[in-house]
Amino acid sequence: MTDLPFPEDFAPELRALLAPDLSKAAMIPAPTVQTASDLFGMDAGTLMIRLLPVAARYARVPLSGFHVGAIAMGRTTGNLYFGANMEFSGHALSFSVHGEQSAINHAWQMGEVGLEALAVNAAPCGYCRQFMNEMVSVGEGFNVLMREGSDAGDYSYSAKPLSHYLPESFGPTDLGMEGGLMSQQDQPLTIRSEDALAQAALQAAQASYAPYTGAHCGIAVQQADGTVFTGRYGENAAYNPSFSPLESALALLNMRRLCQFGYDITAATLVEVDAPISQRSATEAVLSAVAPDVRLTYITAERL
Ligand SMILES: [Zn+2]
Repeated sequence: MTDLPFPEDFAPELRALLAPDLSKAAMIPAPTVQTASDLFGMDAGTLMIRLLPVAARYARVPLSGFHVGAIAMGRTTGNLYFGANMEFSGHALSFSVHGEQSAINHAWQMGEVGLEALAVNAAPCGYCRQFMNEMVSVGEGFNVLMREGSDAGDYSYSAKPLSHYLPESFGPTDLGMEGGLMSQQDQPLTIRSEDALAQAALQAAQASYAPYTGAHCGIAVQQADGTVFTGRYGENAAYNPSFSPLESALALLNMRRLCQFGYDITAATLVEVDAPISQRSATEAVLSAVAPDVRLTYITAERL
């Protein structure tokens, strides 16, 4: 319990409350958030701000050494999902996962269909502002939380809509789209393979978000102990901030296992529809960074 990455200013009672949840995954369920409020008078936003250093410990940053922690609150559940940035040595910087992307991916993959708020320990970069602008809940009460207090013990924070950080924005509605990232997807796709990893990748492809190209795609990776994580493609109106399926799977793995747990990937299967774009080459590149001995299994899905 004591090896969890709590900051030094966490009282023993607060550590004891949060440790059982954090020992399973980097997530705090809503009932624990409520208990923190009842016992310590700490509102959810303050708890999110205080937990950002914990989220940042999950960062894998061999290039920058800059640890970003982000925490997303699910709109329907009130659960808190942690995220952290990830970098991959030997490959283009464009494969990097940002902390905000990681937290949003975590919430999305755990079934959330919108966010109430997202807290982050550094001002969101332009790329993340554009990534967040794709979310279905933007403009419906979603706020970005940032710590304002700089003195020890002062956890006051600002809560501002994304429009504050991204005025005169370009997003899905400019391309005539309704809905957005995290909206429920159930793409009618099928594959011939009955393999369990392929079927898991198919489910991820069915849940992927690709309104601009239709290139629905999902991946499943298996770890040495048999644990499987899936990743979904998440497209963006501005194209470049689109989130690749393997980035999605690695970010989920990073937040659902113990802090700095090894990748330990022994198999990976990508399922995608035949479309004008493909994730195959980018997936093989990133896979070679984290699992050089694993050969990607590639399956084309058919639309029903
Ligand atoms: Zn960013």
